[in-house]
Amino acid sequence: MTATVIDGKAFAAKVREQVAVHVTTLKDKHGITPGLAVVLVGEDPASQVYVRSKGKMTVEVGMNSYEHKLDADTSEADLLAVVDKLNKDPAVHGILVQLPLPKHLDSDLVINSIDPAKDVDGFHISNVGLLGTGQKSMVPCTPLGSLMMLRDHLGSLSGLNAVVLGRSNIVGKPMAQLLLNDSCTVTIAHSRTKDLADVVRRADIVVAAVGRPQMVPGDWIKPGATVIDVGINRIDAPDLGEGKTRLVGDVDYASCAEVAGAITPVPGGVGPMTIACLLANTVTACCRANGLAEPE
Ligand code: NDP
Repeated sequence: MTATVIDGKAFAAKVREQVAVHVTTLKDKHGITPGLAVVLVGEDPASQVYVRSKGKMTVEVGMNSYEHKLDADTSEADLLAVVDKLNKDPAVHGILVQLPLPKHLDSDLVINSIDPAKDVDGFHISNVGLLGTGQKSMVPCTPLGSLMMLRDHLGSLSGLNAVVLGRSNIVGKPMAQLLLNDSCTVTIAHSRTKDLADVVRRADIVVAAVGRPQMVPGDWIKPGATVIDVGINRIDAPDLGEGKTRLVGDVDYASCAEVAGAITPVPGGVGPMTIACLLANTVTACCRANGLAEPE
């Protein structure tokens, strides 16, 4: 069997097109331009790439992008003051503080200082609680993008066995919650899980978010299962030339694609969907802030 490749890049382009249509309506009918503010502290190279790409795509769909680049040694008080200003700014509908923050800053404190209504990453404790109780919330972008691809490919997820590899607050836990809300039978696996291969073999849906390059081999995958690879890992690629690198996921793509029914590639799978969902969340936040019907 060779798996169907779930094209996250094409799906994300469609989501961005829909976002752009909503933005045009908000501007033309209501005179409102949604605005997304991204706060970057320090010079982590991967974060700089993400922030640049987020800013570019925000502008491409017609929204306003506000970037706040702060020095690596910015104090917690100064960072909290920036967030407070953005919370109060009516032109800003979404706020994202790029993680990870430098070690001297308390990420939980900073994230929980964002107005939950503007918390387009969905990491604020209020949004976590709302999601956990099945109420309307801001949903974290990477799990949301993964869920959209699963629904698009499988239709109803009800009753399916889902295994989420990883229990981080930003991917694993919200992913598991979303799958549970869609009536999957959910197992969350992590570094202490016993007999991991057997656990994964029972899954109709595997979501891998462990941050370990190509950790999941094809013989862990139930034939026909749907595999969502969240991992983004840069590894040496001597076959491409001296000093060259490539991006790989948390699953071994070649062997998993032999067994799975469908699989997301890396790059071109979950990554583009994450940014598209961030833009969609910003439009949702803007609609809610203005008492307007939000996009479905
Ligand atoms: P974290 O490091 O926060 O969490 C990793 C999780 O994997 C932990 O729960 C850990 O378990 C578990 N784990 C680690 N090793 C093993 C193992 N050998 N067996 C089973 N479980 C293991 O990572 P994130 O959740 O932040 O990210 C996961 C991956 O997703 C990374 O590759 C990251 O780059 C990528 N990512 C991609 C995004 C995208 O847009 N596509 C967005 C965000 C992340 P324990 O809790 O026991 O330590």
